[in-house]
Amino acid sequence: MTITHPRRFELARVPTPLQRLERAGAALGVELWIKRDDMTGVELSGNKVRKLEYLLAEAHDQRADTVITCGGEQSNHCRATALAAVHTRMKSVLLLRTDDPANPPPMAGNILLDRLAGAEIVWISRADWARRNELMEAQAERVRAAGGTPYVIPEGGSSATGSWGYIRAAEELARELGELPDRPTTIVYACGSGGTGAGLILGARCCDFASFQTRVAGVNVCDDRDYFLRVIGGICEQARERWPALPAITEGDIDIIDGYVGRGYAQSQPAELERLRDLARAEGVILDPVYTGKAWYGLTEELRRDRSRFGERVVFLHTGGIFGLLPKAAELTPILA
Ligand SMILES: *Cc1c(COP(=O)(O)O)cnc(C)c1O
Repeated sequence: MTITHPRRFELARVPTPLQRLERAGAALGVELWIKRDDMTGVELSGNKVRKLEYLLAEAHDQRADTVITCGGEQSNHCRATALAAVHTRMKSVLLLRTDDPANPPPMAGNILLDRLAGAEIVWISRADWARRNELMEAQAERVRAAGGTPYVIPEGGSSATGSWGYIRAAEELARELGELPDRPTTIVYACGSGGTGAGLILGARCCDFASFQTRVAGVNVCDDRDYFLRVIGGICEQARERWPALPAITEGDIDIIDGYVGRGYAQSQPAELERLRDLARAEGVILDPVYTGKAWYGLTEELRRDRSRFGERVVFLHTGGIFGLLPKAAELTPILA
């Protein structure tokens, strides 16, 4: 089924490479591939730019001059938004969550890039994070009062509009997998705010992945399976309300591999970092500690436990995040001896 997409800006370097990982695959007993969405751009690296292509086009259509969004202190989404806003001639306001807003974290990793891009950063506490949508609306009001036109992007760019980025990515993957021999395949991605999952699941239905035995499974890096059934289900429902040609998604279509949150969101365990290190040394692929490192750890554990649930071929979606790894030298040092 071909579906008419909304308008988008061309910001991402796509199609991204789909590469075979011979050594890591042989060690795990599957035909292993990696979809390099960490290569969507240098400064725009990662999955968020695919969503921002649609989000910023919608902002532009609404004559917005300022985008407002929110995330954790090392948010990849906020960094990508700040830089994509420069490309599309808009200003950006980022609400970043931190332990003590009066003493913000050092200017490293994504924060450094946010500042280079000229984003306005508003530090908010963990308690205020619960009212993030209200706080973003207050910033929008401030922009309006100054004569501007704001456009608010929810956490992670995970809205109905943003999900088009991964509907499009699923179409890209369908074309690429179509060129390989037919094999039962599982696509594995890291799930953080649900937009990537929602887009992949909608796209998989549009492209009829089931007919070529392809499963799409997310490893949640925070919260739990029930939470993501609700969040992903909600995004899919909103998308279908706005674009009725999209398929109806039920809970049964949402496949979440729970059990790998570990110490919590953005908190690493040595075993996760060791496995990230081992992949760097085997394949020269750098994962991030918050998302892809956890999803990779979850995938490798699950493959050791019961490989049969993943078919013969696994495609690991590398959603980016390298800038969040760079401020982690102290935590990594013990495992680099
Ligand atoms: C945001 C992010 C994810 C999670 O994507 P969601 O659409 O928020 O679920 C995965 N990996 C990286 C590197 C990210 O920055």
